[in-house]
This record gives sequence, structure tokens and C-alpha cells, in this order.
Amino acid sequence: MKKILIVGGGTAGTMTANNLAKKLMPEIDRNEIEITLISDSSKHVYKPGAMYVAFHKSAGNEFIREQRSLLMPEIDFFVDEAVDIRTKENCVVAKSGKKYNYDFLVLATGCEVAPDRIPGLKEAGDWFYTYEGAQKIAKKFEKLKKGRVLVTINFPKTPNIPHQCGIAPVETTMMLHDYLTEKGTRDDIEIIYTYPKEAQAVTDGLFLQAPTSNVLPTIFDSINVKHKTSFTLNKVDADKKIAYSEEGEEMEFDVLMSTPPFIAAKVIRDSGLSTAKDNEGWLPTDKESLKVIGYENIYTLGDTVNLSVSKAGGTIHNQTDVVADNIAAEIRFGYPTESYDGKVIAVAQMGLSCGMPLWYDYEEDVKPTPCSKLGSFVRLGFNKGLYWAAARGMI
Ligand SMILES: Cc1cc2nc3c(=O)[nH]c(=O)nc-3n(C[C@H](O)[C@H](O)[C@H](O)COP(=O)(O)OP(=O)(O)OC[C@H]3O[C@@H](n4cnc5c(N)ncnc54)[C@H](O)[C@@H]3O)c2cc1C
Repeated sequence: MKKILIVGGGTAGTMTANNLAKKLMPEIDRNEIEITLISDSSKHVYKPGAMYVAFHKSAGNEFIREQRSLLMPEIDFFVDEAVDIRTKENCVVAKSGKKYNYDFLVLATGCEVAPDRIPGLKEAGDWFYTYEGAQKIAKKFEKLKKGRVLVTINFPKTPNIPHQCGIAPVETTMMLHDYLTEKGTRDDIEIIYTYPKEAQAVTDGLFLQAPTSNVLPTIFDSINVKHKTSFTLNKVDADKKIAYSEEGEEMEFDVLMSTPPFIAAKVIRDSGLSTAKDNEGWLPTDKESLKVIGYENIYTLGDTVNLSVSKAGGTIHNQTDVVADNIAAEIRFGYPTESYDGKVIAVAQMGLSCGMPLWYDYEEDVKPTPCSKLGSFVRLGFNKGLYWAAARGMI
């Protein structure tokens, strides 16, 4: 009996568990394989849904389901928080005290917001990356009749690592414009989108890849969104409502819509597996095999990796087959067979009723294409239905 243990019941862990169960069904039927998933919550959260909560387009419940309901019956599921990864003993210890042994381990614990890493941001800032945060900022947008919304973006300190969902700040800036226009308050509310000086491959830009960075000024100008490069947020005065940049500038705000710093989950930060800067915890990941570097039987994918690709569901959808195929091939033939090419495919919500398909890989940047109502229809359809099929490994 070989044991496969997956830690984390988010997009990456769920898709991978289901894909493995499908690929290894003959072995499961012969009792040669056992697949176990542990997660610290009984709920599965479709995280992008929080954007729609922030702009009053959803109450959020439709984006949260029972984790068990998304897993094939052949997968053992336990609600348990992993607290210690013991690579020498091939086991993970959980908060319950239980030890989960493995032959293959998949680490899929995602990442989390860490606003406390910027002085004043936790107190004065808002973000839509969690449902609680989205509900809070939704209330502020509802009350705001005039003033300024300042958009700020922080990247991890570890070089070349993106924040979660690279396009989300652009999506939400455009959704905000549409939402305020619908409400009739847009003319009295200034929106300023800022971007840090260093953003992965781009310096002094508005996005982390050059082709999109180059078209954004025209797009923002067309909807009267002001924009400013080289504003690397380094502290916030919560009482005065002023944001300060590393470059020595300051900006007042009424609402600070921030992309806060992100870090890996605590169990990963505590594991000693990562050498990322400031104990951010990104797992050193082989960009092709998706193994944790230095560990032959540990794979990782999703938001916790240290790769330069977007921390996005559209990334995971392309990584999950590589991880599942490689584990299945190792079990059957003794060696992995698949290689990840860095592919990311998604439809960005560029405003409340416009969707832009995007795709890129390790070799090619995103090519911005015109957004359309049809694109938005596809995106909304994905949110409401297709995502759950994708999580189940059906598409
Ligand atoms: C507002 C927003 C908008 C987004 N928009 C898009 C978009 O338009 N397109 C797109 O492709 N992507 C988008 N994303 C990104 C996408 O949601 C993430 O990339 C994806 O959810 C990451 O999946 P994951 O499985 O790596 O992590 P998660 O989904 O965060 O799952 C991690 C899981 O691990 C569990 N866990 C953590 N620690 C432990 C532990 N110690 N023990 C056990 N379990 C643990 C957590 O409870 C969770 O279930 C967006 C994200 C947000 C927040």
C-alpha cells in the first residue's frame, strides 16, 4: 500500500486529489494506493468570489462549499491542521496529534495576507483578498459619497515572486469604476492606481509584465483613473489617512484599497523547507517537475511555490495534471514523466461586465486583448458553475 498525502483543501489540493484518484483508480481498486487530504477547514472557499463581494455583486455564500462534497469518495478527508512536516520520517503531524504517514506528499497550503508587515496598513488599509476584508471594504464603498480611493500594491520581498493573482488589482480598479458609476458617485470620487517601483520583470511600470504595463495608461485614462508608477508603499498613518512610499512621496486617501504583502502558510514557514527572504515561506520548487527542490517524494503547486508565475487558479489548473501525472508515473514506472511549461490561462474581470481572456507561460508574456461582454459571460459562468467542475477534476 502506497500512501499519498495532500495538505490543503483549496483549489490546488482539491484538484490534485481528484486528479490522482481518477488516474490511479485501478490501483485504488486493488488496495495498492491510499489518497488522504487534510485541511484546516471543512469548507472550500473559491477565493476570487471575494472580489464580487467587495462590489456588492454577491453575498459570498455561493462561493463556499463543503470540502467533502467536492472530493471523490475514494479520497479520505480529515479536517486537521498540519503543524509539523517531518521529512526524515515521511510524516506530517497535525494539531489533533495524529501523524499522517506518506510515500508521496503534496503541499498545497496556499498563501495568506500579511498586512502587519507594513506599519499602519493593518489599521488603515482594506483588501478584497479575504471574504471578511471584502465585506469590510464593501461597506466603506457603500458609504463613500466623495473623496479618494487609493490603490496600492505590495510584492513579496523575495525577488521575482508575484503577489496573489497578479491581475486582481487591475480587475478591481476597473470594477470599482463601474460600481461607482452605477451608484452615481463616480464623478465625486477620485481613483488613483499606484504601482511599486520594482515589480518582477518591470521597473517603473503599472503591471508586472511589460506588454500589459504598456497598455494600462490608455485604459486607465479612458475611464479617468489616475495612475502613478514607483509608489512602493512602506508605511501608513492611520489617523491622518496618509500613505507613504519608499520613494519619499505621500498620498492622502479616504479608502486605501491595498494588495497587502503575502506570505506562505505558517506550517510551511515553520518547516525549514524554505529559504525565502524575511521568512515569507515560498517553497523552493523545481519549475518543471514541481517537486520541492531536494525532496524526491514531495511535490507542491499553487500559491505556495517560489515560481515567478501568477499565484492564480488559472495556473493551478495547468500545474495539477503535471503533479498528478508525475506521482502516478513514479508509482507505475518509477520516474516522473511530465513537465510544467509555466502555462497560465484565465479570464480577467476587467470591470463589472467586461472579460479579457489571458494566457502566458515561462517563455511568453500575457498579450493584452480587448475585453468583451462575452468574456465577462464566460468568467461569470466559470465563477458560478465551471469552477466546481474544475475543482472536481472534471474539466
Ligand atoms: C480576490 C481574489 C481574486 C482572485 N482572482 C483570480 C482570478 O481572477 N483568476 C485566477 O486564476 N485566480 C484568482 N485568484 C487566485 C486564486 O484564488 C488562488 O491562486 C488559489 O485559490 C490558490 O489555491 P491554493 O490551493 O494554492 O491555495 P488556497 O485556495 O488558499 O488553499 C489553501 C488551503 O490550505 C488550507 N491550509 C492552510 N494551512 C493549512 C494547514 N496548516 N493544514 C491544513 N490545511 C491548511 C487552507 O485552509 C486552504 O483550504 C484570486 C484570489 C483572490 C483572493
